[in-house]
Amino acid sequence: MGKMIIGVDIGGTTIKIGIIDNIGNILDKWEVPTNSTNAGTSIISDIWKSVSASLDQNNMTKEAIEGIGIGAPGFIDMDSGHVFEAVNIGWKNTPLSEELRTVSELPVFVTNDANAAVLGENWKGAGGNAKNLVALTLGTGVGGGIIVNGDIMNGESGMAGEIGHTTVDPDGILCNCGRRGCLETIASATGMVRQAKAKMEQNPESRLVSRYNASGRITAKDIFELGDEGDVSCKEIIAYTADVLGLAVANAATIINPSKVLIGGGVSRAGVQFIELIEDAFHRYALPRVSNVCELKSAKLGNDAGIIGAAFLVKQKMENLTF
Ligand code: ZN
Repeated sequence: MGKMIIGVDIGGTTIKIGIIDNIGNILDKWEVPTNSTNAGTSIISDIWKSVSASLDQNNMTKEAIEGIGIGAPGFIDMDSGHVFEAVNIGWKNTPLSEELRTVSELPVFVTNDANAAVLGENWKGAGGNAKNLVALTLGTGVGGGIIVNGDIMNGESGMAGEIGHTTVDPDGILCNCGRRGCLETIASATGMVRQAKAKMEQNPESRLVSRYNASGRITAKDIFELGDEGDVSCKEIIAYTADVLGLAVANAATIINPSKVLIGGGVSRAGVQFIELIEDAFHRYALPRVSNVCELKSAKLGNDAGIIGAAFLVKQKMENLTF
């Protein structure tokens, strides 16, 4: 058995950590709270303390560990592992790799959280080690990641794969990024709820309105449930969202020519039918030579994707160094 790898996924409220073997099995995993007070200054030592304690508990020494891989939020220089800014955990100009390497005396590799999840899905999830792959995560926002020739694409400023901020409607709604009509304004949970609110104003008799009056809010889950029950407004929202996603996937696939497109995140778990609608639109919008070689699938690792992908990053980097 080869050496073990530590995979870390830093989120806004919890840090997920796993001990993972070199074929991607999770031997142990746990979570610690993200302490974002004092500009997140204790996060790096919290991670190492927690890892050391767990190694002790598992009767393992540091020598059994090949390295530490991290998926971190925010804007990151992936080569140096320097985090320019991660607003939700308070970091600004944090030398993540350097500090963790100093306390752990182990190799440390960093990528952004979305890329780590994509690497994890490709290694042990629905990707099946695709050489060329596009992944979208539909949550409160729309995340994305791209693998080309087996490597995650970072781009010149770490922005490659930000498909959520490709423009699908130049006159559309204002996005968090300050521009208009990004994919995220329509295809995220937030975007779907915004569509529902517009429908409620147009049609005060709709079941969306009675659902809203009963619970005081509308979620993406409500929209899918009411759609399943035949509500016309919700079916229209689902059809439009799937169509826009299919368009965005077709454009991304035409640029990358991948063998797989993975759709993950909370919204994607709404059901097989939603994925099929996206697939229909994808086939309508894409060149046949692009769509014929490309399978659209649901991501399947869920919350473990980040730690598994962070571990894969270590494996990949160390192999590149060795051979
Ligand atoms: Zn945007």
